[in-house]
Amino acid sequence: MVNRIFNSCSYVIVQDGKSWLVDCGDVESILHALEGPLCGVLLTHAHFDHIYGLNQLLELFPDLPIYTGEDGLKGLLSDRLNFSRYYEEPFVLNAPDNVRLVDDSQEIVLMDGLYAVAVATPGHSPGCITWVVDDAVFTGDSYIPGVKTVTIFPQCDKEQARQSEQLIKELAKGRHIYPGHAPQNEEITN
Ligand SMILES: [Zn+2]
Repeated sequence: MVNRIFNSCSYVIVQDGKSWLVDCGDVESILHALEGPLCGVLLTHAHFDHIYGLNQLLELFPDLPIYTGEDGLKGLLSDRLNFSRYYEEPFVLNAPDNVRLVDDSQEIVLMDGLYAVAVATPGHSPGCITWVVDDAVFTGDSYIPGVKTVTIFPQCDKEQARQSEQLIKELAKGRHIYPGHAPQNEEITN
């Protein structure tokens, strides 16, 4: 689903009557898309347009685990690093204890027979993770087909971003890319 801030995208992965969320924008549309219990949130990176709904979501699901890396956690806890300070809605995660840190290549079991692999794809931000789930690749802002990867912020690294794009293109062979910004609603059901 496409969010009101910057057309960022959140995705709900549904299988066997359970849901997982990739990135968290507008909570209302997420709730609408859920089927069964919401088991966790996979974050592509902690820029505010991909995380701003988290506090509201945690009010409804106080035990919800949030998966990101060390740099993602820093972004969740700093309205400067996640850029929300510079917009009208400063955001800092209220519940850092819900964060589960993941390393590059770490596998998360989403449900029986369905895994998410965290692939570090830094460049757009130091903590960018591309999540590979079966035949889906959730790239966040590390690779948006047809759009130049944004590397204008102080924490960006152009060369890393280029390498990450190459890696994602490899990962995406035979898979479908679900990017962090898109013009249309998308929802996948595995
Ligand atoms: Zn971003």
